[in-house]
Amino acid sequence: MNYVVELEVQCPFCGEIFPSRLDAMEGTNSMIEDCAVCCHPIQLVVECDGGEVVAVEIGRS
Ligand SMILES: [Zn+2]
Repeated sequence: MNYVVELEVQCPFCGEIFPSRLDAMEGTNSMIEDCAVCCHPIQLVVECDGGEVVAVEIGRS
């Protein structure tokens, strides 16, 4: 089952915080999200358990 969750991502390039939506799929998922402010690609590693996000790692892709 998939749950869409909203989380706040802080851009490692410009430092802005913007909301992002993703599917909280079971396990660890990595994805690339473009910053809404400066458009740099941000690497997100999201760990999910039971439809909830338990950890988010943000890096420069
Ligand atoms: Zn940015």
